[in-house]
Amino acid sequence: MAEPKENLQMEKIVSLCKRRGFIFQSSEIYGGINGFWDYGPLGAELKRNVKELWWNSMTREREDVAGLEATIIMSPAIWKASGHVDTFSDPMCDCKKCKKRFRADQLCEDQNLTLSRNPEGKFVLPVGTRCTGCGSVELTEPRPFNLMFKTYVGPVESEDNVAYLRPETAQAIFAQFKNVLETSRQKVPFGIGQIGKAFRNEVTPRNYTFRSREFEQMELEFFIKPDEAIEAIHGAVATMPATGHPGEPQPDWGWQAWHRYWVEERVRFYEGIGLSRETLGFHHQTPEELAHYARACTDILFKFPFSKKDDHGNVKGDELEGIAARSDFDLSQHQRFSGKPMGVFDDELRAAWGKLSPEKQADLWKRYYDNRKNYLTKSARPGETAEQIQKQATEDANGLAKGQYIPHVIEPSAGVDRLILALIANAYSETVKTDAKGKSETVFVMKFHPRVAPIKVGVLPLLKNKPELVNKALAVRDLLRPWMNVFYDDSGSIGKRYARQDEAGTPFCVTIDFDTLGENPELLDTVTLRHRDDGRQERLKISELRDWLFTRTR
Ligand code: ATP
Repeated sequence: MAEPKENLQMEKIVSLCKRRGFIFQSSEIYGGINGFWDYGPLGAELKRNVKELWWNSMTREREDVAGLEATIIMSPAIWKASGHVDTFSDPMCDCKKCKKRFRADQLCEDQNLTLSRNPEGKFVLPVGTRCTGCGSVELTEPRPFNLMFKTYVGPVESEDNVAYLRPETAQAIFAQFKNVLETSRQKVPFGIGQIGKAFRNEVTPRNYTFRSREFEQMELEFFIKPDEAIEAIHGAVATMPATGHPGEPQPDWGWQAWHRYWVEERVRFYEGIGLSRETLGFHHQTPEELAHYARACTDILFKFPFSKKDDHGNVKGDELEGIAARSDFDLSQHQRFSGKPMGVFDDELRAAWGKLSPEKQADLWKRYYDNRKNYLTKSARPGETAEQIQKQATEDANGLAKGQYIPHVIEPSAGVDRLILALIANAYSETVKTDAKGKSETVFVMKFHPRVAPIKVGVLPLLKNKPELVNKALAVRDLLRPWMNVFYDDSGSIGKRYARQDEAGTPFCVTIDFDTLGENPELLDTVTLRHRDDGRQERLKISELRDWLFTRTR
């Protein structure tokens, strides 16, 4: 269960996380359970802050996003429609000698080999692939392993009662699309955001919490008009500069502008909580990597201590979040599988269509028809004929001309736990300090951005045995407590207490001393405030403390 010794930095981080109560192994007293992790007192606060910041920036602070909180177990039909029942699997293989089990793609990657498919679409191991446990080349051929956890609803364990723990939160958003649309008074373009648990029975959980079997996601589905509708309404789809943030959303944006917008918005979010651009990386999925329905997918990566170097010695990073342009695939699937309409009616489109030249109408009709036909062909169910598909695509294109379409979607999908691990790795710093007597010790400081820091302020009376100081410090604690997470500490020397807060990543500490009580009348009701990162101190009035801290830790 222990983290492999190959990465010293990770080992130190894992050890600090346990020692300071950020992350514990789940069920540790029983030897642990692989792929499951608990968050201790500091980790729970850190996680809560991250989720709240995401929720606020993605929903409350925007006019165009509404929230949702759906169940973990849903109708299994959802996972049939989404494709998870049939295709959500990883290739797994076993060593015939030592019986160790691997994810075939990871096994190849670890040996700089590439897993390929044979003409029938089956994965085949490249020659020379070895078991990383015993070195044997006798490995079974990769076979698909579905990652969904199965359970039964009700007392009878029969196939009819099978249900799944959701492997992502996104599908609930699609399934509830119509309800949210009707109750939130939103109009396309708009989004639905959700934070919640997801479960994947990963073949080989690894890299601490990075690949867990139970984790949390923060997902947004942002619904947009198809490009053909934008072109009908605005004459053309907006063009964009080659790089950078495209600015405030515009009515003539097509999927490319929206996709770029969300990638850049998400990078800004990470920068706003202390992950600078230099710590991040990007992976733009190649056409071979993209799902058949996806137009583009950009992964935002973080350079973790375990991230591998490329051939040029550069660290690319590992995925924190994927931002995918998924076309109208998801809602279309749910429309077909549930038989319930998932489309919207757009007045503006209907009015604009009537004013187009017949040539333009024919051009847009044909492009929309081709896209729908392509989708219907690729996701055809057994028995569906080309004729049926053409008929449906014709109906869909005729619908567009009347102002109807199934919204397309941009999906920024982030993992809470991976972000927590990134924040911890990014914050971790250690220095060796030598005192006047030549005694050295290693000092740990978790340099969290104040917005995510688990404790915002430490409140410390200078001395424990002076009731006046203690009472004043408790009053300061009580003053701040309704507004932020405060930690009161009166045990040990002030230096020790600062060090404890540095390890917890607390950005500020306030000390209540005799001047606070009026020993120097000019300093009555003021405190010393210490900054974590540079040890700088300043004197602040207690009456101003709450606002001062609040503006810096929100
Ligand atoms: P990976 O390729 O690393 O398995 P993925 O591409 O399958 O990830 P998505 O399905 O796009 O991941 O899920 C969206 C996000 O959910 C990921 O970017 C990641 O942050 C998080 N996530 C996915 N699987 C796990 C996991 N096993 N443990 C922790 N977080 C996860």
